[in-house]
Amino acid sequence: MYLKSLVLKGFKSFADRSALSLEPGITAVVGPNGSGKSNISDAVLWVLGERNAKHLRGQAMEDVIFAGSSARKATGLAEVELVLDNSDGKLPVDFDEVSITRRMYRSGESEYLINGSVARRMDVLDILHDSGLGTGTHSIIGQGSLDSILQSKPEDRRALIEEAAGVLKHKQRKAKSERKLAAMDATLARVRDVAGEVG
Ligand code: ATP
Repeated sequence: MYLKSLVLKGFKSFADRSALSLEPGITAVVGPNGSGKSNISDAVLWVLGERNAKHLRGQAMEDVIFAGSSARKATGLAEVELVLDNSDGKLPVDFDEVSITRRMYRSGESEYLINGSVARRMDVLDILHDSGLGTGTHSIIGQGSLDSILQSKPEDRRALIEEAAGVLKHKQRKAKSERKLAAMDATLARVRDVAGEVG
């Protein structure tokens, strides 16, 4: 599986439709400061379901919509399409290519499409689950993240390593089960009290 193409329209600094074709292997994006290099990785995060505007270097989600410039007015819609090559069948769908599109209107409405059909964010996350891509994974490392990882406290760094190793998910499930067990114990104690009073 690899990222085959990315099409941006009205997304951040990409007012016009811009299409990028990518090949397997390493791709480098070069350009002057402020030319939109990081906006490309923001677009990848966004189309994969990112909901936190701060992770996209904005204040509100509307900040992903082209806000206008001295030469042209703002657009009303941001759209990103990402095409993944799935000829190795790593994604759990019967297609050699998977296209994921996300649109967001200035009104706040937004939608996802998978291979052209309307889908829910959940469906996108389900496809990406176990692929190593997607929100919350560390497949996209933002500017400054490496510094903060290197400077983080040992316990925070351990949490990152546990997440990468897939341990965190099980720790969270264990904590949830323990909370449920504690709630059950409390209910059982109440039932015993009542039974004691009745008996
Ligand atoms: P650097 O090399 O300095 O990190 P970069 O090439 O990664 O820069 P980006 O941070 O991707 O650049 O792009 C910044 C540019 O994108 C700024 O000029 C900013 O005004 C523009 N920009 C961000 N959001 C929007 C938006 N919603 N509408 C229009 N322009 C935007």
